Amino acid sequence: MDETPDEYAWMMNARCRGASPTDFFPSDGLGVESAQEICVHCTVRAECLEYALVNRIEHGVWGGASERERRRILRRRRDLLPSTPAEPQEEVHASSNSSTSSADEIWNGTAPAPRISVSMPSSAHEPT
Ligand code: SF4
Repeated sequence: MDETPDEYAWMMNARCRGASPTDFFPSDGLGVESAQEICVHCTVRAECLEYALVNRIEHGVWGGASERERRRILRRRRDLLPSTPAEPQEEVHASSNSSTSSADEIWNGTAPAPRISVSMPSSAHEPT
């Protein structure tokens, strides 16, 4: 019998299970309203949104947020990070603290930023 890793356990309660992927991954990035109508009543909206943010998922609707909206949230979070760079080490880890944040807190920027330990300059991990 398969066991779902804890990281994905919230997916078992996803309201979009069985929904059309075309609603959640519109080909042109537009027309996300039908997905958002499902997300607004989803009990794991915060977990879903945080998962997409932490994992830098660029496509589709996650946690009721469109691609553009998630980019905006990430920019807001980056703006809130301390400007002093950490000492370079080996890896970058980000973990979610979504269990204590609501989707609304994540959306409006009042949720605590995810715990991030920076061990190399972040630009080393970003595409050029
Ligand atoms: S918030 Fe939306 S995309 Fe995320 S699990 Fe719920 S219904 Fe699916």
